[in-house]
Amino acid sequence: MGKVITLLKLLPKVHQILLCFLVLATLIIVILPSGDPHASKDTNSKLSGTIKLGNGDSSDSSNMSADKLAQLKTPLSFRTPTPPSDLRQTITDSNTPSSPQPERSIDGLNRQQVPKKHVKHFKVESGDTLAALFNRAGLSSRDVYEITQLPKAKKNLLRIIPGEEIIIVKDDAGEFLQLSYHINPISTLVIDRDDKGYFEHISNKKVDSRNKFSSATINNNFWNAGVSAGLTPNQIMQLATIFGWDIDFALDIRRGDNFSIIFEEEYADGEFLRNGNILAAEFSNQGDRYTAVRYTDGNYYSEDGRSMRKAFLRSPVDFKYVSSSFNPKRLHPVTGQVRAHRGVDYVAAVGTPIKAAGKGRVIKSAYNQYNGNYVFIKHNDTYTTKYLHLKKRKVRQGETVKQGQIIGTLGSTGRVTGAHLHYEFIVNGTHRNPRTVKLPKSLPITKSEKSKFLALSKQIMAKLQQDKQIQLASIQ
Ligand SMILES: [Zn+2]
Repeated sequence: MGKVITLLKLLPKVHQILLCFLVLATLIIVILPSGDPHASKDTNSKLSGTIKLGNGDSSDSSNMSADKLAQLKTPLSFRTPTPPSDLRQTITDSNTPSSPQPERSIDGLNRQQVPKKHVKHFKVESGDTLAALFNRAGLSSRDVYEITQLPKAKKNLLRIIPGEEIIIVKDDAGEFLQLSYHINPISTLVIDRDDKGYFEHISNKKVDSRNKFSSATINNNFWNAGVSAGLTPNQIMQLATIFGWDIDFALDIRRGDNFSIIFEEEYADGEFLRNGNILAAEFSNQGDRYTAVRYTDGNYYSEDGRSMRKAFLRSPVDFKYVSSSFNPKRLHPVTGQVRAHRGVDYVAAVGTPIKAAGKGRVIKSAYNQYNGNYVFIKHNDTYTTKYLHLKKRKVRQGETVKQGQIIGTLGSTGRVTGAHLHYEFIVNGTHRNPRTVKLPKSLPITKSEKSKFLALSKQIMAKLQQDKQIQLASIQ
């Protein structure tokens, strides 16, 4: 040691200081303990500890990776960061449950990935009550009490109807873990139980809509053409309603008439849900072309922006009731001969509802031996409509009626041989054919909306024509 010090003294002052520094630094590195070797492991386990078990939101859990799922299945002691060995014993004793926590359900969707759950579906039977169903499901009275205290559960579960189902998840010990109930195709009520209590939430699927093109040519009747185009009964009726001011669907549809439409299809989480609104349509009837475009106000306008609604419906009877709607050579129900007369006859079942073609005032509601029960409506100084042979009249003289209001039912009263509606359309005192008479022009879309509407109309009608061409090309 003495020699080292002598040697040091021979060196210049700066070198002496530097050497002392080096020696000190080496000593510190060698003598002091290294950093905590568990550091990285700690952050890891802290991270997994923050994932809350048993309260998984369906949207979270459905996106969960297999890795995260594996973490969820690890016993709870994993939640606590690994403490230094001398502290480990005391912490384990006071804070951590000695046995692993039972697994909690994550969501019905992940059933097959979490094997230790017992999932059972309970169908609501007719005459069933919630209490009876919970009893069948083997829920404890505490479960039933707690569940019915939750506001969303209370609101929705008390309205269950036969045919619906409730899904119950239990653990190995038969303890209730989760209940789920599809309120509708989009929303599901989920009730979870964990050691903190009972929790509810509603999980909603994401709904988006896609536009779908469809078209058909009418071979025998409009209804069948609609079905072949993939339309629902509602959409077929909607299409007839949209064009019902222009076309008499009961009597004026002919072989070769055709239509093309673009409508919405709704998808929930990518799964087909239902057909939605008709967005654009084109109808070709006996060579005349009609168009309709749905605007953001929910109303339909022709492609050039005139309202589809007009002062008069072309037909006072819904086409779906009219049996002979596609027979241009119908025999007249009175004379048994084909003949033109001052009105139009609609042959349908007794009791079929009859609508007012336009708004107006009832100037006659009476009975005589020729007309049977009849109703006359004066719409204004120019137009009057007459409805004959009714079974029942549903309006009184002097009453005002709205367009489409049911004024009576079809019958066979008066001088007839079969049930039908005799309908007359009078313009300035002269009988006219209601199916061909020129009617007052409908109102155009408001000026402030016109340019916006026309832009939309141009775009969607171009798409419709394009899709039509593609389909025509694929047929040929
Ligand atoms: Zn007649």
